[in-house]
Amino acid sequence: MDLIAELNDLHVPKTVVRRLCAVGTALGSLSDDEREALNAALLNDKIHHTSLAQVLTNSGMKVSAVGVSRHRRRGESNGCRCPR
Ligand SMILES: [Zn+2]
Repeated sequence: MDLIAELNDLHVPKTVVRRLCAVGTALGSLSDDEREALNAALLNDKIHHTSLAQVLTNSGMKVSAVGVSRHRRRGESNGCRCPR
């Protein structure tokens, strides 16, 4: 691409793809009842990230404790990019 074309291309707004994190992806793969239970567990700050990640991993979802922690802070500067 030449310089003019490249500069002109900057005017075109890029659609930002909001990528879901591992927890967001896991939530999308669950049934309504399971999703409700997982969301309740995510909201309960007495449940440690590690315990929750372990349960999800046992069910075949690739979710780390850091992933759980980041998803709980989604939308914040140190959280994931999942929609609130
Ligand atoms: Zn997330």
